[in-house]
Amino acid sequence: MTTLPQAEWRAMAGLDALVEALGAGEGAIRFVGGAVRDTLLGLPVKDVDCATRLMPEDASDRIKAAGFKAVPTGIAHGTVTAVLPGGVVEVTTLRRDVSTDGRRATVAFTDDWREDAARRDFTINALSADPLSGEIFDYFGGVADLDARLVRFIGDPLQRIAEDHLRILRFFRFHARFGNGAPDAAGLAACAARANDLMALSRERIADELTKLLGVADPAPTIALMVDQGIFRPVVPEIDETSVARLRHLIAREVEAGVDADPIRRLGALLPQSPETAVAIAQRLKMSKAVLKRIEAASGEGAPVRALAYRLGPDVARDIVLKGDGPTEALASLDGWERPQLPIKGGDLVAHGLTAGPVVAATLQAIERRWIEEDFPDASRVDQITSEELAKALRSAR
Ligand code: ATP
Ligand code: MG
Repeated sequence: MTTLPQAEWRAMAGLDALVEALGAGEGAIRFVGGAVRDTLLGLPVKDVDCATRLMPEDASDRIKAAGFKAVPTGIAHGTVTAVLPGGVVEVTTLRRDVSTDGRRATVAFTDDWREDAARRDFTINALSADPLSGEIFDYFGGVADLDARLVRFIGDPLQRIAEDHLRILRFFRFHARFGNGAPDAAGLAACAARANDLMALSRERIADELTKLLGVADPAPTIALMVDQGIFRPVVPEIDETSVARLRHLIAREVEAGVDADPIRRLGALLPQSPETAVAIAQRLKMSKAVLKRIEAASGEGAPVRALAYRLGPDVARDIVLKGDGPTEALASLDGWERPQLPIKGGDLVAHGLTAGPVVAATLQAIERRWIEEDFPDASRVDQITSEELAKALRSAR
């Protein structure tokens, strides 16, 4: 019998009391999904999800009776969030699909664990575990697939994709994250055959999945496979082989420079390098204003790293340097970087004899330009500004 290994998250303050209140002794509650999968792989767990045979109101009442806050996150879908001293836990009543249309599902509550597991997407995502004994319940061969690092649909891939088209992108995301070697052939063929179904999904959901995919350690081999299989053609045809080459280049340099993975930077590499086109696509994908701004700014040219960071922020500075070909060593100086303040103010210039007015602003700008070029010398240097230097700044301001 496979059991759930001990892991840090299982000692979360309040968790034992919660599962007891929710009837762990009677087998009414189990850990499910990503928490079980990631614990079996020895990976850290972000979200703790529980499934329960209890009806949502009952679960909510018991959570409150145990002294915790119960937030009705998605009570219609059966989800209550328990707020414990050590973190939050999502508790969802067992469900089965009543009808699906590729975009949303109508569900009914059930008390059948297997039915709840069967509506999940992949075998490795359908594992559940008893919180007391740690016993793993594996109805579809998820443990073996986890050992083989194989992402496999539960049931017929074509049918599962017809129920929910987002599973096409989830297949590639989980393969990029956990897969080893070639993906499951039947799953891959079904995704390729049904790629056009992605057109029925909202652009936000596509962008969200793509962003999550780009956040895994090395998404490049999977993105290459997706291009090869025509997965992007219906929704982002601009992502092609040249995109993959840029992404590989970027990731190699992220690794070399020891810079954390960043999905938005990677998206910027994937999209065409003309800022107008890249921004238009990001807009089509309903990405936020901040993302649009960053993608546009990151298409600029290389300059000294700290100067870029000062003008455009450290994220964009890293984006530009990593997309380029120049040395990456200076990026380390951005760790814990704080934007320096020009150590001279308009008042200082007036004290030096300038007449208050537009000329002060223009002179300040000229001084700032030089200060950036000189890599931000501190106040002691700027205090020593001579009248000759000031005159020079003044001349270049005019
Ligand atoms: P992550 O660490 O990325 O959050 P996760 O496994 O928790 O991984 P979620 O997207 O948070 O993934 O979903 C939680 C669980 O819900 C999944 O493990 C899976 O069992 C189920 N699930 C989520 N989305 C779908 C879907 N589109 N179709 C079927 N089951 C799904
Ligand atoms: Mg999750």
